[in-house]
Amino acid sequence: QPITTDMATLTQDVQKFAREKKIEIETLKIREEYRREFLGNVSHELKTPLFTVQGYLSTLLDGAMNDKTIRKKYLERAEKGVERLIHIVKDLDMITKLEAGDLNLDFTRFNIVDVVQNVFDLLEMKADEKNIMLMFDMKYTKPIMVWADEEKIQQVLTNLVMNSIKHGKENGTTEISIEDLVNNKIIVRVTDNGEGIQKQYIPRLFERFFRVDKSGARSEGGSGLGLSIVKHIIEAHHQKIYVESKYGYGSEFSFTLEKAE
Ligand code: ADP
Repeated sequence: QPITTDMATLTQDVQKFAREKKIEIETLKIREEYRREFLGNVSHELKTPLFTVQGYLSTLLDGAMNDKTIRKKYLERAEKGVERLIHIVKDLDMITKLEAGDLNLDFTRFNIVDVVQNVFDLLEMKADEKNIMLMFDMKYTKPIMVWADEEKIQQVLTNLVMNSIKHGKENGTTEISIEDLVNNKIIVRVTDNGEGIQKQYIPRLFERFFRVDKSGARSEGGSGLGLSIVKHIIEAHHQKIYVESKYGYGSEFSFTLEKAE
C-alpha cells in the first residue's frame, strides 16, 4: 500500500509517541526511586538488631562466656535481637503482600469481643511492665458479631494496643470501646492517655517506616511498619481508620467494621 500520510499527521504521531515514552520513563524512574528508598529503609531497620546480636555474641566469644550470669544475660539479649529481626521480617513480608494487593482476606463471621480479649491476654505482660491498665467496658457481655478477616483484625488490634502501651505513660490506661454506627457498622476505638502526637506528624503516621521519635521508638522494638500495615488491612476491608491525638495527653485510633447478623 502506498504511504499517504501527510507531514502534519506524521509529526503528530511522532510527538504522541515521544509523549508516551516520556511518561513511561517517568513512571519507571518513580518506581526505581521507590524501590531504592524501600531497600534503604529495610537495610537500615535490619542493621540495628543485627549489630546488637553480633555485639553480644562477639563479647561472649571474647571471654564473657566464662561468667555464668553474664553469659545468661547476653544470650537473652542476643535472643531479643533475633526476635526483633523476626518481627521486622514478618512485618516486611506483610507490607509487601499488602502493597502488591496479594493478600487474600479470609472473611468470616466472628465475635469481636473475643478478639479484644485475645489481644489483651497476649499483651497483658507488656502492659504490666509499665503498670498500664487494659480496659474494656463490661457492658459488652453480649457477642458483637462482625464480618471480616479475623486474623488480620486481631493483628490490627494488636498493633494499636501495642503502640498505646509503647507510647503510654507509666500507670496509664489503654481502653478499647465499641460503638454502633449507622449502616450496619461498628467503630472500634483504642484510646490511651500517653504521650500523644504533635499535630504536624499526624498526616504522616501511616507512612511506611515513619516514626516521630527516631531514636526512642527504635529501642522499643517497632519496625515503623505497624500503622501502615493497620491502614492497609482496614482499607482492604473497605473500612475507614481515624486518628485523633493531643500532644501530652493521649491518642485515639479508631476503625470501622461491618456488622454480621
Ligand atoms: P513503630 O514500629 O515505630 O511503632 P508504627 O507505624 O506502629 O511504628 O507507628 C509510627 C509512629 O507513630 C510511632 O513511631 C510513634 O511515633 C507514633 N505512634 C503510634 N501510635 C502511637 C500512640 N498510641 N501514641 C503516641 N504515638 C504513637
